[in-house]
Amino acid sequence: SKKAIVIGAGIAGLAAAVRLANKGFQVQVFEANAYPGGKLSEIEIKGYRFDAGPSLFTLPDQVEELFRISGKNPSDHFQYIKLPVACHYFWEDGNQVKAWADINQFADEVETKLGEPADNVRKALKSSAFIYDHLSPLFMHRSLHKLNTWTNKEALKSYLKMGKLGIFSTMNKANEKRFVQPKMVQLFNRYATYNGSNPYQTPATLNIIPHLEFNIGAFFPKNGMHDITLSIYRLALELGVDFTFNAKVDEVLVDNHKASGVLVNGQKYLADIIVNNMDMVNAYKSILRKQKQPKLLLNQPKSSSALIFYWGIKKNFAELDLHNILFSDNYREEFEHIFHKKTIYHDPTVYINITSVYKPDDAPKGCMNWFTMINVPNNQGQEWDKMIIEARKNIIAKINRILKTDIESLIEVEDVLEPRTIESRTSSANGALYGNSSNNMYAAFLRHANYSSTIKNLYFCGGSVHPGGGIPLCLLSAKIMTEMVEENLEAK
Ligand code: FAD
Repeated sequence: SKKAIVIGAGIAGLAAAVRLANKGFQVQVFEANAYPGGKLSEIEIKGYRFDAGPSLFTLPDQVEELFRISGKNPSDHFQYIKLPVACHYFWEDGNQVKAWADINQFADEVETKLGEPADNVRKALKSSAFIYDHLSPLFMHRSLHKLNTWTNKEALKSYLKMGKLGIFSTMNKANEKRFVQPKMVQLFNRYATYNGSNPYQTPATLNIIPHLEFNIGAFFPKNGMHDITLSIYRLALELGVDFTFNAKVDEVLVDNHKASGVLVNGQKYLADIIVNNMDMVNAYKSILRKQKQPKLLLNQPKSSSALIFYWGIKKNFAELDLHNILFSDNYREEFEHIFHKKTIYHDPTVYINITSVYKPDDAPKGCMNWFTMINVPNNQGQEWDKMIIEARKNIIAKINRILKTDIESLIEVEDVLEPRTIESRTSSANGALYGNSSNNMYAAFLRHANYSSTIKNLYFCGGSVHPGGGIPLCLLSAKIMTEMVEENLEAK
């Protein structure tokens, strides 16, 4: 049988391994870390468990599909629930809104609490669905780099609706048209952060994102986010995929414009195809350093990064949900700091994710595991140590004001993740969470393709290539990549 080598066991590398094994490949995965999952891993400190990176789960179908194509019943291996409340929002003036999964309930809530006409919400979510229906077949499920993507019927239909799809406006401008209340504009602008972009720059097309959360749903894996990694990893093992951990690939071997294998610890491993799951910018600096560099693609601005405090909190806050947002008083300034000043705003929007709300064994009894995160610029060599100390003070002050507490005295355990450690643990360029940012209308076209146009048998998946970052898109990148492998095999 044919052999495939996958470089990296991030979520896309795992999905690629599963898909290629299903196509009859003998698959070998090399992972630099001692564990699978990359950004989607977990940490444990003194009885508290934390999902280390991603906390929001959308499009669970993308995970389930991996089990279905392997002839298994997904729910025997991976279970999740649909959240009744996608997020609990708090403002400094005491206002609070729950984003109910039931759209009418959410619409009524914002009408009562914020004075936003309920109909505006329903209309906005319809227009998000419109964008999704027109763009997802084109941008999410196919390679953008093949001619037939641009000449099929769906593509032609979409061209006719460019204006309505928001390509020529920004997310913020579109939201200012849809809503009368600044708080609603802010709530919907926040979706730009789901792929690390700036709502004041990113095309209104990204208003596609609320469709995922409201019209399809926000979900939570019963065993925590890390179970997405573990269940796909176990599936790969069952399919006979071979994993080598603590195995950093040093080079992709290329002969005659053809990838033929990899070099790991001075040893050569040969294969028919090589699939790279490592961040593209760092891959071209390391394992592909001898190859022609696609400079334009590599120089695109990166998405934002994150500063996370994992806090074991020795108290139960009944008012908090799984996802909580404590909004900044000046959102525009906050993003100005993240994307232009490349520093941290003194009143950042604080996100608190608490899995123990749904998975009580993630914290000791009467306690909560707080994943407390703010969006920060990606790493440009700022004075992070100083910035982190300052940000921690501001985050604590904000939590104390809004939740009327003294949170510092309740912190029992603490760990920190920040742009430098995000980069050192997963090789993502500048510690960006989602590869390139989507801050202009060309971004979708300036992500690296799922294959190399100059080196045969070399393919790519993961958050830094098409269709982009975030779990669902990473999983789709593995699907698009596998389809290309198949097409190329058939063409031979
Ligand atoms: P990565 O997770 O980047 O892993 C790449 C793997 O390759 C790593 O394991 C690395 O060790 C390995 N590797 C690199 N170089 C080599 C080499 N030379 N040899 C061998 N192995 C190598 N997404 C969501 O959907 N929802 C969220 O709520 C969300 N929140 C996030 C919060 C944070 C703090 C972070 C960091 C990310 C978040 N994301 C979220 C984004 C999401 O985590 C990523 O898009 C996704 O996990 C990236 O997966 P990937 O397959 O590209 O690989």
